[in-house]
Amino acid sequence: MTFTPALDRLLASLRVSGLPWREIGNIIGCTGDQARYRFRAINRREPPPDTSKHKERKCLRCRAFFASTGPGNRICAPCTEVNAVICDLAPDTVSLDALDDDASSWDAWRC
Ligand SMILES: [Zn+2]
Repeated sequence: MTFTPALDRLLASLRVSGLPWREIGNIIGCTGDQARYRFRAINRREPPPDTSKHKERKCLRCRAFFASTGPGNRICAPCTEVNAVICDLAPDTVSLDALDDDASSWDAWRC
C-alpha cells in the first residue's frame, strides 16, 4: 500500500473525526494496523513548527505582513500557492513560440 499526501490528509481527518482504526482502514484501503502505524509515522515526521524564530515580514508579492519562518521566507503562504499554480499552468497555457518577443528571455521565468 502506497500512502500519498492526499491519503495521509484523509487518514488524519478520519482519525480526528474519531473513527476507529479498522473503519479508517476500510475507507482508505488498508488494514486498521497499517492506518494506525502510518498515522504515527506521519506525526513523528512532522514535529510542531518552532515559531520562536518567526518574524513579521512584508510579502514581496502582495505586500501584506505575514509570519515569516526566516530570512529566506519572503512570500506569504497564499502567494506561494498562487506562484505554484502559475508555474504548473504556464507550460500548457503559454505558447512561448507564439510571442513576438525573444522567447529565450522567458526561460528565466520558468520554474
Ligand atoms: Zn503575499
